[in-house]
Parts: sequence; C-alpha cells; structure tokens
Amino acid sequence: MSMETTVHYLSLILPAAVCCFLLQRLCRRSLEPTQYNYFRDLALLAVWVLSAVWVGTPVSRFIVGMGVLASVLGLLQRLYPDKGWKASYLLLGLVFAFFGPQIGFVGLSNGGYHYFSPWGSLLVTTLWISAFPILLQELDKIPGMAGHLLVVSFSLLLIATVFSGQPLNDAFFMALCGVSYLGVFWSRHGHMYRRLGEPLAALWGTLIAGTSVLGVSKGITFSTLMLLPLGLFAIPIVETSLRAVSLVLPSRSYGASALYRKLIGRGLDHPSTVRFITSVCAIAGAAVAVSQLGTSLFMMMWVSIAILFAGFSLVPFLRNMKRNTDIPLRPTIWGTAVDNVSMDYALSRTRGAVMSGQGLSLVSTVNALAVMEAERNEAYARALRGSFLTLADGAGLVWGLHLLGKPVQERIAGIDFMVRLCRMAAAEGWPVYFLGASKAAVTGAVRTLQTKFPDLVVAGYRDGYFDAGDPSICPAVRSSGAKILFAALGVPKQEIWLADHGIDLGDVVAVGVGGSFDVLSGALKRAPLLWQKIGMEWLYRLIQEPWRWKRDLELFLFAARVFLTKIGLYPDEGRRRRP
Ligand code: UDP
Repeated sequence: MSMETTVHYLSLILPAAVCCFLLQRLCRRSLEPTQYNYFRDLALLAVWVLSAVWVGTPVSRFIVGMGVLASVLGLLQRLYPDKGWKASYLLLGLVFAFFGPQIGFVGLSNGGYHYFSPWGSLLVTTLWISAFPILLQELDKIPGMAGHLLVVSFSLLLIATVFSGQPLNDAFFMALCGVSYLGVFWSRHGHMYRRLGEPLAALWGTLIAGTSVLGVSKGITFSTLMLLPLGLFAIPIVETSLRAVSLVLPSRSYGASALYRKLIGRGLDHPSTVRFITSVCAIAGAAVAVSQLGTSLFMMMWVSIAILFAGFSLVPFLRNMKRNTDIPLRPTIWGTAVDNVSMDYALSRTRGAVMSGQGLSLVSTVNALAVMEAERNEAYARALRGSFLTLADGAGLVWGLHLLGKPVQERIAGIDFMVRLCRMAAAEGWPVYFLGASKAAVTGAVRTLQTKFPDLVVAGYRDGYFDAGDPSICPAVRSSGAKILFAALGVPKQEIWLADHGIDLGDVVAVGVGGSFDVLSGALKRAPLLWQKIGMEWLYRLIQEPWRWKRDLELFLFAARVFLTKIGLYPDEGRRRRP
C-alpha cells in the first residue's frame, strides 16, 4: 500500500467516522430507544454507501452495493419470517459472482495453487458469498457474538492487507471502513446483550465475505483469506471438537450455540462467555495469519494478540476461581440459600433456562423478611429450595450476609431483574405472561413495559386475586406459549403457588416479583436511588403503605438475630424444625 493511498483513505474515512460518532451522541437523548436503533442502523448503511461512493473504487462500490442489497433481504426476512428468505442469499451470491470479483484459485498446503475453471470459480464464489450472511445470522443468535467476531475478522483482514506488502487497495479500504465503523457503532455491535438483527447481520456478512475475496486477485492466497475470517467459523469448528467431548457428557444441547451453552452451564456468565469465544477465535485467526504470512513481524503481532486476548479471557476465569475459594457461591442464612451472583450472571443463567426449557424454573427474590418467613414456613422454604435461582433483593439481607462473613456480590432487586429480563425477552421474542396484583396494576404494568420495549411479546396477563385452586390459571399460562412468567402475588404466596403448580405450568421460567406490578403501573412509587443506596427503601414504602408497619417491625428482629448469630447466640442454620 502506498503511503499516499493510506493517507487519502484515512483522511476521508476517519472524519466520516467521527461525524457518525457525534451524530449518535446528539440523537441519543432526543430519540426514543427504538427510533435511535433504527437511526443508528440507517446511519451505518449511509456512511458505508457514502464512503464507497466518495473514495471507493468500482469494486468496493459493488461490494457495498451487494451489502445493502443483503440488508434489504435481511429486512424482508425479518418482516416475513416464514418465507424461506435464506435461499435468496444464494441468488445474491450468484449475482456477486457474475458481476463482481471472483475467487480464482486456492492455495494448497504444499505451497502450490489450485486454479478453478470459470464455472468452478463461479460456483465457489456464489457459495462463499451466500454462506456469510446466513453464518452471521446464526452467530447473532447469541447476543453480542456476531459483533465481537466481526471486529476480530475485520481487524485481522486490515492487518493482513497492511503487512502483505502488496497493493491491496480495495481490501485495505474495505477493512479500514469495517474496523472504523464497527468502532463507531460499537454500542450496537459490541454490546454484550444486543443482537445485530437480520438486516445488519446480512450486511456485515456480505461485506466481510466480499472483502476476503478481494485479496485473491491481488496475490494473497485464497486459503489465507478463507482462514482469516476463521473467527467466524471457529464456533462450528470448536463445537465439532466439543461435540466429540460432549458425547461422553450427559447433555442434549447441540446446535449453533452448543459451546456457548456448555460454558454458561459451567457457571460462566454471558459476557465472559462471549469474550472467551471471541478470544479463542482471535487466537485461531491470528495463528492462521502467521502460518500463511509467517514474517517475524507477524509472529510478534500474533504473540502479542494471543497474550492480550488470552489474558482478556482468563480474567473472568481467575476471578471465578478466586470467588470459589474465598466466598461461598450459595451462602445460607438460617437455612435459606441465596445465590451470590451478579445481575449479569443471573440474567445469563435465566437465558440458559429459557433456552433449555426443561419444566418450571423458579427464580425467587428474597429479602430480610422473606428469610425469616422461610424459617417458620416449611412450604415456602421448600419452594425456595426448589428455586433454580434465589436472588438477594433487599439491602437488609445484603447487609446481614455481609456481617455474617458471607457477602453477596450485589443486591438484585426483583423489579430491576424483571425489567432487564423483559428487555432480553423483547430482543429474543420470548413471550411473557404477567400474573398478579390488581387488574388495574397488572394492566398498567403491561402497558408501561410495552411502551418501554415495543418488541415485547405479551402472551397474556391476569390479576392475582383468584382462588388458589382455580383450574383455569395454569392452562391459560401454558396455552399462551409464554416462556417467562412473572408472578406478583406477594411473598410467600407466589413462590408456594408456583412450586405447587410446576407441572401444570409447563416449560416456563417463573419469577416471583412481589409488588413490582404496583410500582411499574405507577400505583406505588419506587424509592429514589439515594433511599435505595442507604438501605431505606422499606421506609419509603412504609410511608406509602402505613399498614405495613407491623410487618416492617420484623426488620428490627432480623437485625437483632443477625447480631446474635454473629456472636454465636443464635444457630447459624436457624431454628426451623426440619421435616
Ligand atoms: N397480591 C395478589 N394476590 C393476592 C395477594 C397479593 O395479586 O392474593 C398482589 C398485591 O396486589 C401486590 C403484590 O401481590 O401487588 C405484592 O404484595 P405485597 O406488597 O404484600 O408483597 P411483597 O412485595 O411484600 O412481596
């Protein structure tokens, strides 16, 4: 690459990237979240097209044009999901192969080349181009994955074009745009819980496929460029080997996200898992680059990238190991176990439970009053024991656990967990059922959440004032197809009811959320952040619902009992009579 070309590209692409960045900042506050998302996707398309028109060559313009076409196909796929649109990418690949750059040859392991016949070349290019949009859409099923692997692939392509020593101007232009725009739109592409969606996955898939083809005609062997985007393929490859391993493990989770599920199942949270897979792919991709272009400079770069990413992915492992040894993962307080997890981890586990869909998975939220209730109420204690996650909701409980030398990572308020889970459900298209509170409260809560997350699929809702033996509730939830059920019947009624009706409710993740519907509907006001931070949320609620005073008196009993336990005057395992 000549210095002049590099400066020319940089001087136009970087200002365009900065403009997009500023534009995003400007619009973030004034637009609704959904509008903002659409705006950002359109801005990305626009900046690609403008860059290609202003500084690109006919070849790069062609690739970007095909990318835009692919995103239109992706949009149609999203609008009419049952129409078998995936086959249309084959047509896209064919058009690309006819009118655009083609894959002419592949490098062989003995250093030679295999040249394709014109028809062979057409076929290989068609398959290559059409595979990537679909591949990226598959990767996109794991939130955050496609964006992370795109960054790895485009970065490697950029490094390869820069250090290949050949004038790969088109490939350099495409890779530079790719890296820059991925960086600028990072909050969309690098967000751990966000997916690109079909249109963007198709766009980026076509762009990376097209870019990797470019080098062939300019001298970098096809094999290098086929393996460079290995980052994208590494999941299926790693999965294949993992599948062999998993044959001896009792598991039935195969498919596009088997590795992801395995890691989640072993207790790694979602962000760490995405980072780990990205690191594996980055190291694999960099290793291929070195083996193909093995200069000492590349070797050094590979080693540094490998160390960087290995370190990056190892940190959470080390942190997990440290946590395992120092602090209990499931501390108990008077016989009630609480999960020592972060909000992100709890959401990851819940995602895993929704995806595996094995019967009822109960998520309970407990506070100081709830653990005291569990001590005297065996049915409630049993329901908590059967919960797949028990979250510490309540500053008092967090404080108590801390004082007893078994701290939890953070307080996870039921309402916060519920809202985050709704966000995830909306992104994933998981239907949600709302059960509990008064008619007005549940309707209001549903309305609030639908306004907040327009994509939220509400499978159904009904108030919580029904007879415990009412036979119509479970069939209604089951037939609604809900994957998540929020039950706001109050503690301990909601947990006991859910545990008792587990079989009738089918495959659903049920979360007991107490008074959250009242807060979401606006009937109750949530305590301001400061009150929450200083552990006075209960007082704020008491002011709104003075009839709770008797119940809240128990908080003092809780505090006293914590002190007594601390000095050994109250049994650590509680005074519950075990059945
Ligand atoms: N609730 C219900 N059915 C009942 C009792 C209560 O739907 O039979 C609802 C009530 O309307 C409220 C929610 O359960 O919205 C939580 O009640 P509470 O505040 O007493 O529970 P906590 O938040 O203390 O768990």
